[in-house]
Amino acid sequence: MLYQADSSRYQNMEYRRCGRSGLKLPAVSLGLWHNFGDTTLYDNARKLIHCAFDRGITHFDLANNYGPPPGSAEENFGRILSADLKPWRDELIIASKAGYTMWPGPYGDWGSKKYLVASLDQSLQRMGLEYVDIFYHHRPDPDTPLEETMGALDLLVRQGKALYVGLSNYPADRARQAFEILHRLGTPCVIHQPKYSLFERWVEPELLDTLEDHGVGSIAFSPLAGGLLTDRYLHGIPQDSRAASGSQFLQPDQLTDAKLEKVRQLNALAQQRGQKLSQMALAWVLRGDRVTSVLIGASKTSQIEDAVGMLANRTFSSDEIAHIERILM
Ligand code: NDP
Repeated sequence: MLYQADSSRYQNMEYRRCGRSGLKLPAVSLGLWHNFGDTTLYDNARKLIHCAFDRGITHFDLANNYGPPPGSAEENFGRILSADLKPWRDELIIASKAGYTMWPGPYGDWGSKKYLVASLDQSLQRMGLEYVDIFYHHRPDPDTPLEETMGALDLLVRQGKALYVGLSNYPADRARQAFEILHRLGTPCVIHQPKYSLFERWVEPELLDTLEDHGVGSIAFSPLAGGLLTDRYLHGIPQDSRAASGSQFLQPDQLTDAKLEKVRQLNALAQQRGQKLSQMALAWVLRGDRVTSVLIGASKTSQIEDAVGMLANRTFSSDEIAHIERILM
C-alpha cells in the first residue's frame, strides 16, 4: 500500500537545537542497530519507520555495520526510503557512521581517511542517497592522528556527502581536541553520541560539560539499556526479546537479581508518576536539557508510541531525583 505520512506528525513532538548549530533534532530519535537487518522481517522494519515518522521522529540513526549482516540495515532503510519516504527526504535527518570493522584488510576499520571516505561512499550507495545529514566517526582510533580523521570528516562535508559531522564514544579529553581541530578546519562538530542511561552515567559530568563549553549537542544511545530499563524483563525473559535473541549486547546473565531489583524499584516510582518505566528512563536522560535527543531502538511500534508518549510527563521533582539516586546507589 502506498504510504502517506500522517498530516498531524509535527503536533506532539518537540524539536531541540543541537548545541549551538542550526540543526534541530526531535527529542526522540530512532536507531536501526537492531531489528532492521536481513535476519528480521522487512515488513516490520517498514512499519517501525512509518510509525516513527508519523509521530514526528524525523531523525534516523544508522551505521555502516548495522545489520546483521553488516550493511543490511542501510540497504533495507534505502529500500524503505525509495518505496515510501522519498517525497519527504527534506524532512529527514539521516545519520551514518564508520569506525568499527566493516571489511577485511587494513582499510576497513578505525579512523584513516582511506576508510572513512570509502565507507561513506558505500553507505550512500546502500541507502540510495546523495548525502547523509550527519556523518560520525564511530569510535576513537588510538593510532591514527586525530588531524587525519577530522580532516576526512571536513573533506566529506566539503564534497557535499555529509551536511554535519559528529563523534561517537569519544572520551571528554579526546573529544575536546577533536572539536578544536574541526573548528580550525571550519567544519564544527555538531553532535556527540555517547551511551547514556540510568545504568550508564560515564558522561556525567566531564563529557556533558565539555559539550556545553564547545556548543556541541548530544544524542544518548541505548537510553533504555537495551530494554533492561523497561518492564520487559520483570517476569522472566520473553522469547521475542533482545536478551533471548543471542545478542552479545544483552545477555541473560546481565539480568542479575541486583539489577532486576533496581528495575523493580524504578518501575514502582514510574508507576507513582503515572508512566511506564521506559518513559521515566527516557525523561530522566532528557532532564536538565543537556542532552538534545534520546536515541531509542524498537522492535514493536508500541515501543515507539511509548517513547513519544513520554513527552507528556518529563519533569521530575527534587524528591523524585533523590529517590532515583537512592535506588541506583
Ligand atoms: P535502547 O536502550 O532504547 O533499547 C532498545 C530496546 O529496548 C528495544 O529493541 C526493545 O527491546 C526495548 N524497548 C524499547 N522500548 C520499549 C518499551 N516501551 N517497552 C519494552 N521494551 C522496550 O536502545 P538500543 O540499545 O537499541 O540502541 C538504540 C540506538 O542507539 C541504536 O539503534 C543505534 O542507532 C544507537 N547505538 C549507537 C552505538 C554507538 O556506538 N554509537 C552503540 C549502540 C547503539 P526488544 O527488542 O527486546 O523488544
